[in-house]
Amino acid sequence: MKEKIFTDIVKRLNEIKKIANLSDKEIELLSKPKKVSYTTLQIDNQKLPAWRILFNDALGPGKGGIRFHPGVCKDEVLSLAFWMMIKDALAEIPYGGAKGGVKFDPQKASLKKLEKVSRKFIDAFYVVLGENKDIPAPDVYTNSQVMAWMLDEYEKKVGHHEPAIITGKPVELQGCVLRDDATARGGFIIIKEMIKNLKLNKKNLKIAIQGFGNAGSNLTQMLWQDGFKIVATSDSQGGIYYQKGLNIPKLSKVKNQSGSVINFTTGQVISNQKLLELPVNILILAALENQITKENANNIRAKYIVEIANGPISYQADKVLFAKNINIIPDVLANAGGVIVSYFEWAQNKTGNVLDKKYLEKLLQQKMIASWRKVITIHKEYKNRIDLRTAAYLIAIKRILAAEKLRGHLNN
Ligand code: GLU
Repeated sequence: MKEKIFTDIVKRLNEIKKIANLSDKEIELLSKPKKVSYTTLQIDNQKLPAWRILFNDALGPGKGGIRFHPGVCKDEVLSLAFWMMIKDALAEIPYGGAKGGVKFDPQKASLKKLEKVSRKFIDAFYVVLGENKDIPAPDVYTNSQVMAWMLDEYEKKVGHHEPAIITGKPVELQGCVLRDDATARGGFIIIKEMIKNLKLNKKNLKIAIQGFGNAGSNLTQMLWQDGFKIVATSDSQGGIYYQKGLNIPKLSKVKNQSGSVINFTTGQVISNQKLLELPVNILILAALENQITKENANNIRAKYIVEIANGPISYQADKVLFAKNINIIPDVLANAGGVIVSYFEWAQNKTGNVLDKKYLEKLLQQKMIASWRKVITIHKEYKNRIDLRTAAYLIAIKRILAAEKLRGHLNN
């Protein structure tokens, strides 16, 4: 049975309640979404379930991507919206948290159908969206083309230009030069910082990466170019393992031509499950949620795990890994590069200024490292009795609750 993700989020909040001495009212505020919008999109003769959930907007308008995937459900969108709230607060960008999703298989859909779904999504939800209300972006299986259709449909509906309504747009439509590989870039900055802090030697490290989508493939290339040894990677069809280190440019070519990394001939084809259990030093999770659960947590051999996907480790698995002394760099920290660059794009659109790429790269670097340091400091304050995820949540929750209090939402 599928583990209920949001139920576990509430369990985690109740743990944090004890650690941070929070009131019932504060926990209630943090565990209830502000607005859940649901409909079905009529596409040809199908009805596709679709959601947009604004979890919290105390720190600013809602922000978060839209996912197209056959596994999309309310529990998933709600959890993803909650994580966006934490991520945005930790990164100190002026947003609340939100997320959207449509349940269907985009890999089996024609371009025509993808366009129809994108436009219908906006027709259904444009009233709850807006550059100062709730700002979507790409997520799993949505990209800059989808954002372009959505922008166009939104502007048709409201009758004026409003590029800041959506981020992750193509550069031609006022997107940001850095956005396409921003999640990977942010993850790369964090991995480098982690290695520096732990004084690990790059030459001795073996890395396995689950997922070869936008974030996974870009990060794999960045690490390879920087001289890291990637011994395994995977996509939805399976994985490939080569102990001596995969040649990533050649592998990317095979993936582009044939559709899967499993067609790469140097190495052994393995399952996605097997990839997670390989004897590596760093495991990077860049696929979907709930990949490490209580069923397989005991088999994990990596000492460090970096979450590039949202929620790839279940609540129960977190406990097992903590007891095994495995360090997890949590999603809300490691994958924040995407939304941070979304913020640059939004700010550019609102002011009309276009900022230099080098400057933005530096800004992203500064923001990622500032978050990393804050999390490490709190972690140390608690003398390592909590994991890094809890440390990140403590920082984010403090900011959200301060905003709620100033707004008068926590008064009796
Ligand atoms: N979908 C990305 C995430 O989960 C980016 C969200 C955004 O840019 O708003 O962080």
